Amino acid sequence: MEKCPFCLTENTMSYIGKDSSTSLCTNTVDCPICGQYKISMEFAEDIDKMKEITPKVKAILSGYTREKTYLKADNYEIPVLLHGNYQDIYNSPIVPRSVSEKVYKLLNYLNVKASDFGEPVSINLSLDRSITYSVSQKELREIIYELYGEHLIDIYNEAGVKHGRNLNPDIIILDKTLIMDLKLTMKGIQYLEQ
Ligand SMILES: [Zn+2]
Repeated sequence: MEKCPFCLTENTMSYIGKDSSTSLCTNTVDCPICGQYKISMEFAEDIDKMKEITPKVKAILSGYTREKTYLKADNYEIPVLLHGNYQDIYNSPIVPRSVSEKVYKLLNYLNVKASDFGEPVSINLSLDRSITYSVSQKELREIIYELYGEHLIDIYNEAGVKHGRNLNPDIIILDKTLIMDLKLTMKGIQYLEQ
């Protein structure tokens, strides 16, 4: 098992042989940050040598494969990443291009993951930056703080107690807390439905 080529998480990639759709030697990746995808051996080997694959491009590829994995739409097919198609993925219409589109991705994730109304969804800041296609977890922290400030989400502590509205931004933005439970408020649900 090798590292995920996008985020370098250890023990996530293994060789599976020739892919039937592309006839290329292919690896399969199952990564807690980037979700599930296949990648040609050639592309996986070259990715770190390619100047055009900046950290931002990697964050977008990672966000794309993560989103495909958690949405698992009816027509879901595991994404296959190649030299010849990564630009198409980079330019995909599902990729958020603005802060407001990133905000929407997080709200939609909470909506998809909550099985029932009022069900909190656990967010692990070290693993979930891909939900907002962010390069760093700092951006995810800031988006969470803004959503909380706008009353679109509630935040629960580890004991399951809801934080009041006076939560110090440092707790989210600067604190080392990595795991928090978030819940869409009625206002958050209405925002999603607009
Ligand atoms: Zn990864």
